[in-house]
Amino acid sequence: MKVKLFLLFLIFSGYTIAQQLPARWDELTATDWQAALDKSSKTCILPIGILEKHGPHSPLGTDLIHVREWSSRAIKQEYAVVFPDYFYGQINEARHQPGTFALPSRVIFDLLEATCDEIARNGFKKIVILNGHGGNPEFIQFFMQSFLNKRHNYAIYFYNPGPDSAYATQMKKLWKSDQKGDMHAGERETSTLLYYRPDLMKMDRATTQSGADQKRSSLPNVYTPIWWYSSFPNHYAGEGAKATKELGEIIAKHEIDSFVKALKVIKDDDKTLQLQNEFYDKVDNLQK
Ligand SMILES: [Zn+2]
Repeated sequence: MKVKLFLLFLIFSGYTIAQQLPARWDELTATDWQAALDKSSKTCILPIGILEKHGPHSPLGTDLIHVREWSSRAIKQEYAVVFPDYFYGQINEARHQPGTFALPSRVIFDLLEATCDEIARNGFKKIVILNGHGGNPEFIQFFMQSFLNKRHNYAIYFYNPGPDSAYATQMKKLWKSDQKGDMHAGERETSTLLYYRPDLMKMDRATTQSGADQKRSSLPNVYTPIWWYSSFPNHYAGEGAKATKELGEIIAKHEIDSFVKALKVIKDDDKTLQLQNEFYDKVDNLQK
């Protein structure tokens, strides 16, 4: 009798697991597709990472792993389909470091456009870009601006949170290094990874290279392509060694909450697509 009950339990629990709708695109079945479109309000998250050196201690895919973990936790609170690993962005400044994957600019632009079009062709009306890489925002902003160049039957959203003073105060209590110099693989980013994926961190190596600004070039009010390398030739900016899992937890919980709020707003939003269509209609009417 006991064996029978146990078998029944196994069958039932297996059935329950099978009924859960995965969020990752690559984990859905084709027969799940309509249910995923309905449950997500036709919203697909496109997490964008990169492959680049992250100091001597954090994995090359730090930004990719970050957005993957971030989105996978967020969709547990607010369902949306999550596009699989995407790591094609702007990273020319790290081409001198091993493991960097830097495709030509035209390729990353066309690939992002084709990816969004293809996501939309599969029924999504809203694409939410969740970016994890500091070298991407200018590229993504330009992509967003270029979006109006031709008609699209879907809307695109770039998650772009503003400052939060309560959160900043909470973070400062645990912060140990110079916040200004913390720009890449330093205390903030290392803490975040220590929270999400401690198994991948090689913390004993964090001080083997300098993440300090070398200040090798100063041209006031002038931008040059080599500015980052001139300051941070190790492609490391900050002090990863001062990172803690406790700080990482504060960062992660805040970013997940904040993204969930944005996701809810986006899922409820019909205005963006409506205004976009109005805009495209006016553009078309100019030619009549
Ligand atoms: Zn990073």
